[in-house]
Amino acid sequence: MLEQFERYPLTFGPTPIEPLARLSEHLGGKVEIFAKREDCNSGLAFGGNKLRKLEYIVPDAIASGADTLVSIGGVQSNHTRMVAATAAKLGMKCRLVQEAWVPHEDAVYDRVGNIQLSRIMGADVRLVDDGFDIGIRQSWEAAIEEVRAAGGKPYAIPAGASVHKFGGLGYVGFAEEVRAQEKQLGFSFDYVVVCTVTGSTHAGMVVGFAADGRADKVIGIDASFTPEQTRTQVLSIAQNTAELIGRSGIGEEDVVIVNDYAYPAYGIPSRETLDAIRTVARLEGMITDPVYEGKSMQGLIDLVGKDYFPAGSRILYAHLGGAPALSGYGYAFRNG
Ligand SMILES: *Cc1c(COP(=O)(O)O)cnc(C)c1O
Repeated sequence: MLEQFERYPLTFGPTPIEPLARLSEHLGGKVEIFAKREDCNSGLAFGGNKLRKLEYIVPDAIASGADTLVSIGGVQSNHTRMVAATAAKLGMKCRLVQEAWVPHEDAVYDRVGNIQLSRIMGADVRLVDDGFDIGIRQSWEAAIEEVRAAGGKPYAIPAGASVHKFGGLGYVGFAEEVRAQEKQLGFSFDYVVVCTVTGSTHAGMVVGFAADGRADKVIGIDASFTPEQTRTQVLSIAQNTAELIGRSGIGEEDVVIVNDYAYPAYGIPSRETLDAIRTVARLEGMITDPVYEGKSMQGLIDLVGKDYFPAGSRILYAHLGGAPALSGYGYAFRNG
């Protein structure tokens, strides 16, 4: 479905799928859980889902003649780290707006983890006071103007690389990759579980899995705590992406999002999120983070416990990355 689009490789290639046998057993053994390791997808600054999206955005950035990538996120944004890494790899400059999306406890929150890596990679990192919002932001538009005023040629990448014409394509490719891997494995997955916030990861999967009638088997776990905005954004990105690749027919019913695990706020883990992070770390040695994957893991564990998935289901947990943010949450894990 993606042959007509140019792709600039930033990842190693297809990501591995591994069985989480001890987690499956721990949860009663009625379902089989696998992880697709998007968190190990690249050598660029620890990788993650944003690189799969950026692979389809970078050709447009290069064609535009830009010399500076401009993007936005929270202080511990994985996305802005990935944009900084991409800019370094391309030989471009990088200007990042880091907003105060998360009320945090750790004194070093704005000096470790993602933001530390972005600074090391040479990005011009600026902190601003605005709160959480997945939409288009005034501070980002101001940063683009500033780059221009200083004689630079900016290329704008929105939060999460989501509300961008090509933002949904990468995860259409994910679905195609899963289909090819299913052929080799000799079985198909009954469900895909994915964390959703700015929406293009989930939206791309909806479009990609709609091709074999599985759009509504993609279970989005909201981590935004503004679920209506996320749902609206997933649906619109899915519809725009479908149109872009010459498909149609994506509707409300194709977007399944469970809202129950994002509490108490975006970027703040609940006790249950922290428990889920510890559980999968201790059973599988797999590291998830307090902002995103810890919440989707919490959701997966809870939904399995509630028999949401019929016995015998094979579930693919999309691990989207995010572990570098853990350094900003040292206090929560001070006793393990
Ligand atoms: C960005 C991100 C998500 C959410 O993906 P969206 O496309 O913004 O919905 C989930 N997990 C991690 C680790 C992320 O960095």
